Amino acid sequence: MTLFPEMTDNILGESIIGRAQNKGAVEIHSHNIRDFSEDKHRNVDDTPCGGGMGMLMAAPPIYRCWKNIVDNTNGKKRRTVYMSPQGRVLTQSIAMEYLEYDQVIILCGHYEGVDRRIVEEIVDDEISIGDYVLTGGELPACIFVDCISRMIDGVLSDPECFENESIAGGMLEYPQYTRPIDFMGRKVPDVLLSGDHEKIKKWRYKAAVELTKKNRPDLI
Ligand code: SAM
Repeated sequence: MTLFPEMTDNILGESIIGRAQNKGAVEIHSHNIRDFSEDKHRNVDDTPCGGGMGMLMAAPPIYRCWKNIVDNTNGKKRRTVYMSPQGRVLTQSIAMEYLEYDQVIILCGHYEGVDRRIVEEIVDDEISIGDYVLTGGELPACIFVDCISRMIDGVLSDPECFENESIAGGMLEYPQYTRPIDFMGRKVPDVLLSGDHEKIKKWRYKAAVELTKKNRPDLI
């Protein structure tokens, strides 16, 4: 649910998530909250009660948009999420919680955010993508959708792609190389060209530990 459905449609319609939609592994719809305004100018926002800067998204159009989705998708095990800098900070394990739902409805705020009462009325979880503030919830929603979707069967060609990756595997991934073997004097480590799979496995593990210690000691 967004005021800028083209943003989410464009981003999620491309590349791996776009192909996943085409083959039916995931279904993603962007709903325009403005379509549910009953104002003759299609207004969806107003000034904050008590004063202050900017505009707030009003509760009624968001509620009607949400109700329309819920009424048209009966019987789904669902969760409604508000993308918000005030939420739990997204991690791989939080994204994994969402694999058990058939449907996730995501509310993207804009301007100064949304009337708190809509959060109390419809939202089950608030998710932040990090300790910084963006202009809207559309990019965070795309990040959240991408993160969940790539763990769904049929989205990636091989589930190992995400199982062994940084973070999901508990550490950062080992450094990877492809051709050319020599790039401006920097050579691919000999062991990776040796064909000795046991040695390669050990080298990768050691390299992953070293990289994790250096960049993300908190994960060790
Ligand atoms: N006034 C709000 C506050 O201080 O908490 C910030 C509103 S922000 C400018 C507008 C919208 O962007 C929010 O309603 C939210 O949907 C989205 N947003 C901004 N930063 C975000 C973040 N780190 N994670 C998730 N959503 C974010």
